[in-house]
Amino acid sequence: SSSPVSRTAQASQLFENFVQASTCKGTLQAFSILCRQLELDPLDHSNFYNSLKAAVSTWKVKALWTKLDKRAQQKVYSQNKACQGTRCLIIGGGPCGLRTAIELTLLGCKVVVIEKRDTFSRNNVLHLWPYTIHDLRGLGAKKFYGKFCAGSIDHISIRQLQLMLVKVSLILGVEIHVNVEFIKLLEPPEEQTDVGHGWRAEIRPSGHPVSDFEFDVVIGADGRRSTLDGFRRKEFRGKLAIAITANFVNRNTTAEAKVEEISGVAFIFNQKFFLELKEDTGIDLENIVYYKDNTHYFVMTAKKQSLLDKGVIINDYMETERLLSPDNVNQEALLSYAREAADFGTNYQLPSLDYAINHYGQPDVAMFDFTCMYASENAALIREKHGHQLLVALVGDSLLEPFWPMGTGCARGFLAAFDTAWMVKGWAKGKSPLEILAERESIYRLLPQTTPENISKNFEQYSIDPATRYPNLNASCVRPHQVSPVLFLSVES
Ligand code: FAD
Repeated sequence: SSSPVSRTAQASQLFENFVQASTCKGTLQAFSILCRQLELDPLDHSNFYNSLKAAVSTWKVKALWTKLDKRAQQKVYSQNKACQGTRCLIIGGGPCGLRTAIELTLLGCKVVVIEKRDTFSRNNVLHLWPYTIHDLRGLGAKKFYGKFCAGSIDHISIRQLQLMLVKVSLILGVEIHVNVEFIKLLEPPEEQTDVGHGWRAEIRPSGHPVSDFEFDVVIGADGRRSTLDGFRRKEFRGKLAIAITANFVNRNTTAEAKVEEISGVAFIFNQKFFLELKEDTGIDLENIVYYKDNTHYFVMTAKKQSLLDKGVIINDYMETERLLSPDNVNQEALLSYAREAADFGTNYQLPSLDYAINHYGQPDVAMFDFTCMYASENAALIREKHGHQLLVALVGDSLLEPFWPMGTGCARGFLAAFDTAWMVKGWAKGKSPLEILAERESIYRLLPQTTPENISKNFEQYSIDPATRYPNLNASCVRPHQVSPVLFLSVES
């Protein structure tokens, strides 16, 4: 039995360990120690945040509680009761799955996130729109990552973003399971059984407790190759576009600090730069972006002929898949190509361009085909079986694939996360399935056209209510009777 003073200090230290944890596993471990030592029940989602706040009340965390309270008190959440009793499964712990989880838990849903991996290892850097920076600040981003968007920085590495969103999610009562892979939906059984009577998921490993979780809403946030079926995909075929990403070690020296970043928008139109690059090096690019983050991160779109000329691509094939298949790519030549482009792009000012090491222990360079971009035709659908309705939705890359050099993934991804939470709120309020789907489709039509310029500038007013974000919203441009019948699937047998 320790004194109240040392208990307070201990609580504060445990919480600080959690806040400072720098890996996915480390975060989950620090969280479980925190809960055990402070006797908090993380499964008690409606009371968890308040209990944690009461247990960790030192001045050091006050600023964080103030921020999160401000968010949680937005009217749309009805004091954490807007969706009381609604149970949600989110597939994928990427930035968009986690951002959706945070909104749903604030609405009062029971939220379970399953993530098939247990590491956050993506060095690649996401461009943030002004509203996303404002949004993340409001969730205490600076507390979790001190360097968050300092000065004029408007980007963050994917892994740092995931890390901070996991922490906010846990604090707000989201249940997160790593090393758990979604396989498919399981329909409710005809007869009520011991295991239950609602919608469940088949997962790997099969004996995991999440396989007993019954839910009313399932969100596909598992990236570009979504596993949820029932959604048709639209393909946008552009002209051949081959993108290369490269990450170099950042030693944070003064010399490195001085080198200027290259923002995408500025350089896409800079003809002279690309001509000189081609003349001097034989490298022919359509665009290049450079962000200084945990790594020196470059993403560029390269022309096929220059990749052939420089021996990066060995043989020329018509089909892009064959063209970029590993056995047709000279990895050494690719490393040199990206390094040379990075060196020229930064005017040879980066002292040493040593590749950072990726998840597989290899130099962090990758080449991707962006010729075809996918978008889901619809954002949501409803299934019904033996009287149990299930709302199924997609967010993030699963919904709309981004073009990396433009960095639309996170910005449009978060907008869709908010729109989805708004739909879940309507669903919990008892709106009819066709009304729900019609409104969601109407809002989804705006998403591919959004830019930092045409969304509302009043970030302070942003909430999950689409009217606060889209100035030209017509939430009923799709009428309930126009909703495709395939989206309301009554799977009665
Ligand atoms: P993701 O970030 O892809 O997250 C999906 C998550 O779901 C992953 O953690 C995955 O492990 C998990 N998952 C997948 N299947 C299952 C399953 N069956 N069960 C459970 N979990 C599952 N954008 C840029 O702007 N610039 C870049 O340089 C860039 N590089 C990228 C590199 C890679 C390798 C990838 C995959 C994406 C990259 N992106 C980049 C895109 C960017 O990461 C996304 O737009 C952004 O992270 C938002 O995506 P998301 O949350 O929808 O999906």
